[in-house]
Amino acid sequence: MSFRVVHTYALPGVDHGDALLESLDATLGKGVWLNEDDIISNTKDADAIIGVVSRQPFNRRVLETLSKCRIIAGIAIGFEAVDLAAANEFGIAVTNVPDYCLDEVSGLAIGFMLALGHKMLQIDKAVRERQINFTGGRQAADEIGYPMFRMHDQTLGIVGLGKIGTAAALKARGLGMRVIAYDPYVLDGVMESHGVTPVDFDTLLRESDFVSLHTPLTPETHNMFDYEAFKKMKPTCYFINTARGKCVDEPALINALQEGLIAGAGIDVTAEEPIAADNPLIKMPNVILTGHSAFYSTASDAELFYKPMTQVVMALRGKWPLYGLNPEIKGAWLQKWGTVS
Ligand code: NAD
Repeated sequence: MSFRVVHTYALPGVDHGDALLESLDATLGKGVWLNEDDIISNTKDADAIIGVVSRQPFNRRVLETLSKCRIIAGIAIGFEAVDLAAANEFGIAVTNVPDYCLDEVSGLAIGFMLALGHKMLQIDKAVRERQINFTGGRQAADEIGYPMFRMHDQTLGIVGLGKIGTAAALKARGLGMRVIAYDPYVLDGVMESHGVTPVDFDTLLRESDFVSLHTPLTPETHNMFDYEAFKKMKPTCYFINTARGKCVDEPALINALQEGLIAGAGIDVTAEEPIAADNPLIKMPNVILTGHSAFYSTASDAELFYKPMTQVVMALRGKWPLYGLNPEIKGAWLQKWGTVS
């Protein structure tokens, strides 16, 4: 059988795993198409599509034009731009890449913690501007360093102990920290097996020296961190968000920082991206902003662009793809496309 694969976000100079198709009788169409009409005109006859399922519009209007597509393989973790209900109706498997940047994102959360806890930005600024030196008397320690705590004695509170939260917990345990977590969906005993103590949300807010957020954005987690939550935190606590900006009521975070309810924040993701020029967070010296870069490394980037093609090859070989997001149609899909071997 001859297949047509269409890559709707094929960037120059990136390895999209084209060589994986050599073992199949397949042609590959490539482009960068961002709007519905362009996607429709280029994908109608595709057996498999690769695209950015978090941003490109794979909506019902696009999906209903696909005559024989068996998979939309996504280049992203988030898949909010795909109409999954429509994909189910038309029998199309949808995949994402759920695991390409776990080390990077958990690493940035720990990086925020170390930088904030050691007051690296403030000290760096003082050294550059005033050549200040901590061994030259008490001034630097009293003025810039105080209060500074021994990392080993600190408690990290993780909200959302999934893939990235767990990776962050294990790294923090490696630093000798106490780690507590709130995640009502984790099975009994799992947290303890990672050396993490399960607690309720309020206890986490009260006891943590660093709070790191790692939940998805859902109706339940939207604005989960509101003014009331920040009020319950220690004034010496640092808040870290590498998850989704809208899990935080941003005006409440800004108030909390301005009023000293918390000591500072490490913010990778904001409610509006890119961050607005007049966002008060930009001017706060105790806030580190990283512009949604947590996912990025050379290695994660390579995985992100390569892995969707592995899902396409599985699907074209009649196997349900490993990262299938809609297993509810797996049975019917295998009946239609599946092979026994
Ligand atoms: P995951 O699905 O593996 O884990 C999420 C965890 O959150 C799960 O254990 C779930 O039970 C828990 N959770 C859900 N609702 C909750 C609630 N109301 N209270 C407490 N816990 C709750 O996800 P992941 O891959 O670890 O990703 C975590 C977050 O990181 C997501 O928001 C994802 O979008 C984000 N992310 C950001 C970047 C970046 O570049 N900044 C990159 C990748 C992922």
